[in-house]
This record gives sequence, structure tokens and C-alpha cells, in this order.
Amino acid sequence: MSKTVTTRFAPSPTGFMHIGNLRTALYSYLLSKSQGGKFILRIEDTDQERLVEGAVDVILKTLEMTGIDYDEGPVVGGEHGPYVQSERLPIYKEYAEKLIASGHAYYCFCTPERLESLKDDKGIGGYDGHCRDLSKEEVEKNLAAGVPYVIRQKMPLEGTTSYVDEVYGEVTIDNSELRDQIMIKADGYPTYNFCHVVDDYLMGVTHVVRGNEYLTSTPKYCLLYDAFGWERPTYVHLPLLMGKDEEGKVSKLSKRHGAVSFQDLVADGYLPEAIVNYIALLGWCPKDTNQEFFTMDELRESFSMEGLSKSPAVFDYEKLKWFNSEYIKKMDEESYNAKALPILDELCPDYIDTNKLAGLLHTRISAFCEIKDQVQFVLNRLDMDSELYTNKKNKTTPESCKEVLVDCLPLLKTAESWDNDTLFALLKDYAASKEKKAGAVMWAIRVAVARQGITPGGATELMEVFGKEETIARIEQAIAEL
Ligand code: GLU
Repeated sequence: MSKTVTTRFAPSPTGFMHIGNLRTALYSYLLSKSQGGKFILRIEDTDQERLVEGAVDVILKTLEMTGIDYDEGPVVGGEHGPYVQSERLPIYKEYAEKLIASGHAYYCFCTPERLESLKDDKGIGGYDGHCRDLSKEEVEKNLAAGVPYVIRQKMPLEGTTSYVDEVYGEVTIDNSELRDQIMIKADGYPTYNFCHVVDDYLMGVTHVVRGNEYLTSTPKYCLLYDAFGWERPTYVHLPLLMGKDEEGKVSKLSKRHGAVSFQDLVADGYLPEAIVNYIALLGWCPKDTNQEFFTMDELRESFSMEGLSKSPAVFDYEKLKWFNSEYIKKMDEESYNAKALPILDELCPDYIDTNKLAGLLHTRISAFCEIKDQVQFVLNRLDMDSELYTNKKNKTTPESCKEVLVDCLPLLKTAESWDNDTLFALLKDYAASKEKKAGAVMWAIRVAVARQGITPGGATELMEVFGKEETIARIEQAIAEL
């Protein structure tokens, strides 16, 4: 029977979730779920200098918000715990000692000064294997005397090491290029290079999905599997996410291209579902379909390794925006309002009907951060040019509009109630009585009230949003200015 497909996401808690990391998590998750497998979350915090407080919460929250749920990991637990590497130190020590016993690793007692002296002027230089062949007696003497040590992996000196990556194909490295890398540091902490291999094996990981920065160091990890006599996992390295700057130059996606963390994108008003949908397609292509919209369930069903591409994908903010606007349009009123209203309520004065305004904006924004710009005309009485009253289609001029405004002002002041239907009927009746086009009347009022040419919603909808008092005040101002 073949093993359950098991994948993992193994982030280092650095304080934010880079969108490239989130894509790695997503693909890793989808790979196992598309095959009814298991997905594990493991926190890789052995680089104690890089630890950031609260960073684990950011990881947990991101996975929760995106619907990437894990079967085993911190909080939920599981049979292979603990899932935080700093809580697994004795395990790494035990496995490092196993490799020492089998001759695949050794104690190294070289002083920092000696290692420093091996470097060239540029600070580059590898270890020279000085302690590779210390005698048993020497090692025991040093250990007994408490001489500080690290444990190093004993690399083969000749031959090559190869593996086949699912995305990049065969990767081969000359063993002579491999340094005897540190597995356990002097402070007793393991290096990533060592402990992730032990964990992947002990946690039953069958497919390692991660960024391609590990593509060429993976032969070293393969040698660890071989040294332990363990079956190597399948490797799936993913190409980098790129960004394009204003001159069209493409480079690794970074802050100068725009928001690059999941949190920042969410803060800018992008919906987690839209982000997930968009990044799912940044390096993966569904088979036999041009489908662009995917729910998480659909992704779980359609995902397959064959659809992965090895050419770097360019993160396109415009495309994300488009996805987001489509997702916003699809939101039901309640969930849309839950996001839009707090923003509007904070921005707008009390007399503004923010519920109505939210409704007008629903199909007109592609991210919630756009709301602020869109409602400037509500928050301020903008400077305007009277030429805005000129409209060819409705045959209006500033003069004709002034006449409409002067006529309508008393009618509006005595309007029975202030809702869209009443106001619409009132203006239509007025237009009919003066044998004017309804459009011409609406145009005059809309421009006078909004003080800009393009608005979300028509004249009477805007009047509802502004309320009676502000509408009348704006029309009076418009008449005075004309
Ligand atoms: N902690 C590593 C990182 O965040 C994980 C790499 C891996 O998935 O093996 O880059």
C-alpha cells in the first residue's frame, strides 16, 4: 500500500507572511488535499536571533483566514508533536549522535578564530575538514574537558549527488563542492539544514514543497536521508515570485513593488478569498480548462503537480485588483457591509446615510481601500467648474441648470419625505410640467449636489445619501455660484 501523501508548511516566524510564502503554503496544502492526504504545520524557530514576538500568531491567523487548515501542528497537536522546533531539541541531539556513531557526522572543536582565519579578504571560505578524522581518544578528551564543539555532516569527497525535482527535473552536484556543514551549533541548537530533514522524516512527510532557494542545497539533505538509511521524499521546488517596477524591470517581489505581505494586502482591502484565488494561479495552471475563479474546494479538487510551472511568475497588482473587484461584487450585502460600513462610518459625518452610500459603492470598488478616495465628494464640497453643468446628451448648460435648481429648491424644501422614490417622482413631475427632459433635470441636481461629473449613483440616490439639509445647502451654494 502506498503511503498517505503528507506535506508540510514549515515557516520561520519572521513577523509577516510574504505572499510567496503563502503561495508555498497553499500549494503544499493543495498537493496533499488533492490526493486525500495530510497537511502539517511546523514552526521553524531554531534561528533564535531572528525570532520576532507575535510572529507565530501571524502565521496561525493567516492560515485561518485563508482556509488553509492543517491536520497536525501547533494548537491542534497530533501524533508527531511537538510542532515547534525549539521544543524538539533532544530529538535533534539524539539523531545527530546516531550519525556520529555511524561515521556520517563528527564533532568539530575548531575555535571561532581558527574558522575566521580560513576566510579570504571577502569573508568567504569554507571549512577545511580539520576535525573530520580526529581520533576517538582526542574527541573524548575534548568532550571531557568541556571544549565547545559543533557537530558537522561528513560529506563524501568524491562523486556526485543527484535527485529529481518534480518541477525542475534532475539536479546534480559534485560532492567535492559540498562543505561539511554544521548540524548542531555550539549553543546546542540545530541548523535548519539538519533539523528539517529529521522532522520531515519523523513526521512522515512524503512531498517537500518549498521555494527554489533550496533547490541546490537539497543534495546535502538527500545525503542525510541516505546516511540514516531513510527513503528520500519527493521534492517540489517552486519558482520565485517576481514583481515588476515602473520601468518594467522584473525582480524578486519586494516592498518596492507594493504590499508583499498577506496582512498588508488585507489591510489594503483585498479579500482573503481573492488573494488565494489569484496566487493559486501564479505558477500553477489547471488542466483542460480556462477557469479562473476557484473556491478552495475547487482548488483542492483540481490541483495537480503537472500544472506547476518552473518559469517565475510575476505578481500583477492590477490582476489581483480585478479578482478582488469580482469577489467584492459577489459578496452578499451583509458581509459586504461588515467591511464597508466601518470605513464609511469613520469617514463620514453623521448626516450621511452610510448604508445607502455603501450600497452605491458595492459594484464600484475593486478594493476597500478605494472607498476613501471614492467618497471625497461626500466629505468635502469640492471646488468645481461650472462647465460640468454642460452635457450634450441632455442638452444642458450652466444657465439651463441654474433655472432647474432655482425651480426645484422650494419643491425639495417642502418634499413630503426624503427617499429615492419620492424624490424621483417629484423631479419627474417637475420635468413634465416644464416640458423638460427628466435627464436634464437629474443632471443639474446631480452635479450641484456631488460637485463632480462622475458619481456612484444618480441624483436622487445621492440626495438620499446626503440627507435633506446637506442637499438643500449644496443646491443653494450651487445657485449662488452660478
Ligand atoms: N523555514 C524554512 C523557510 O521558511 C522552510 C524551508 C522548507 O520548507 O524546508 O524558508
